[in-house]
Amino acid sequence: MFKFNTSKVLQSLICGTSAIFFIPTVAAQASPFQHVLIISVDGLHGADLTDSSLTKYMPNITSLEKSGIMYTNAFTTNPSDSFPGTTAILTGAHPKTTGIYYDDSYSRTLTAPIADGGNASSPVGTELSYFENVDKNSALLNGGGDYGKGSIDPTQLPQDCSSGTCKVVNPWQLTSVNNIFSVANQAGLYTYFSDKHSGAYTIAEGQSGNAVSDMYSPEINATNVSIQDGKLVTDLSVKNDITKSYNSSGANGGGNGELIKAYDDLKVNALINAFNGLSALGTNTNSSGGAAAVPALAYMNFQAVSVAEKAKIGGIPTAGNPSAALIDAVSHTDASIGSIMQTLKANGQDDSTLVVLTAKHGQDPRVGVGTQVAGHVITDALSAAGINVAQATQDDVGLFWLKDQGQTAAAVAVLQQLASAHPEYGIDTVYSGANQPSGFGNAASDSRTPDITIKEKQGYIFVGSVGNKYKNAEHGGFNPDDVNVGLILSSAGLATNLQGTLDSSNVDTTQIASTALEALGLDPNTLTGAVLEGTQSLPTTGLIPNPAVPEPTSILGTITALCLGFGLKRHNSKK
Ligand SMILES: [Zn+2]
Repeated sequence: MFKFNTSKVLQSLICGTSAIFFIPTVAAQASPFQHVLIISVDGLHGADLTDSSLTKYMPNITSLEKSGIMYTNAFTTNPSDSFPGTTAILTGAHPKTTGIYYDDSYSRTLTAPIADGGNASSPVGTELSYFENVDKNSALLNGGGDYGKGSIDPTQLPQDCSSGTCKVVNPWQLTSVNNIFSVANQAGLYTYFSDKHSGAYTIAEGQSGNAVSDMYSPEINATNVSIQDGKLVTDLSVKNDITKSYNSSGANGGGNGELIKAYDDLKVNALINAFNGLSALGTNTNSSGGAAAVPALAYMNFQAVSVAEKAKIGGIPTAGNPSAALIDAVSHTDASIGSIMQTLKANGQDDSTLVVLTAKHGQDPRVGVGTQVAGHVITDALSAAGINVAQATQDDVGLFWLKDQGQTAAAVAVLQQLASAHPEYGIDTVYSGANQPSGFGNAASDSRTPDITIKEKQGYIFVGSVGNKYKNAEHGGFNPDDVNVGLILSSAGLATNLQGTLDSSNVDTTQIASTALEALGLDPNTLTGAVLEGTQSLPTTGLIPNPAVPEPTSILGTITALCLGFGLKRHNSKK
């Protein structure tokens, strides 16, 4: 397939009257885009992008739509947790293939961390905790290290003792499939990654553990933080909670969202540094010790919208009337996206960068206030029936790994009885065994799949105890508000006929992975998880090639395609 990209100078030479002899040079090799920037605005629902009470605070996201394709029926993974949501985007695959079900899950074959006493003679079966707990010091913004691999405390990692000798399972060793960063890195491309936990999100490093050139994941659960001169900094003299930034009382969140906005600002400034050819920290040396460069593949996420949706004073209390907290978070995030786009434009990178704006998950309920259910009612009912739970993970979903998988049928019976006796618990469906939500494996044959999965009714969320003053909404579950997420592919360089279009077909965030590779001129068939699942690229033909332009079969066709903008908008049609 013909792919083309070239400089303004060469293009104008060719599209001018002469200089036919340049053709062999420019037709030699190219990718549709030089850069792919993937941005997750965690919590951004598909419906938020068509809700006029919110879109009026999104001028910059709206301009991305105008120069892009918006997918109005895009879905993230089941479960809709950030961790599988991230690995879906990176690997092109679902939990049944990646083995990544949640940031807090379970393995029937691995062994407990050293810190919990795990060793070669310990029984197999351990909780898989991959969040701030794996940091050396999660109270600090740098996780006690370098915002990445150097922030990991290996004694907190589960171990693989199958050979008789125990080896810790680093985040990037938690899945056996590769990811877009591995593929880009193997192709010699420079990569950049930034997410919310310093240690755990090194999952992006790929199986080599070295796929990310510059890694910058400030720890969102850092508590020794304050804002100084408008910037979030480590401050050992205070204790704050960034994630409760929009809650007006308790936990030093402040209520005005300043901490979470300043947290996102760190990552925005770092990304801008990257597109200016510097490291995240603004130096000439990246986190791998190499020379900083403009990334070919970059990823970052925003958290303020998610935090504002979850906050008790946040979300959208009644349809059409978003809370001040959510408006504040959306406005701030949109302005940050505007700053990023301005940088690309100022650097002449806007034509050559494909921006993917999406969300790892939504939040349920999108409108209204969540109904809280004490999570222990489920585990209490199971233990009363003599069923021991090895691991319970509950948000607006319930995932349960049993000590004895032989008790699965009995557990299902208990929970179905509980569902009918207590409609106030909001239990919608109890799944087990091979009958699980799409994207799940079979618990009987897979060491990571939960034995029991509870789908909660729309708007029901599990909490430690009812009356939790911070929880308005949650994610992790399977309702439309959890899984139907925003997705826009945008670039000033995208084919003109695709800019400002809507695509209402059902698409999946796993399709971003292959699309990103194709945009960079890399082979999506090298993505092992995507190949296993048969994941296709997003249904756009705008990247490669523009359907409005005939496939060139001759040098003349090549010139025509080039001058019409083959998959890429004609450079000289931009100012
Ligand atoms: Zn998230």
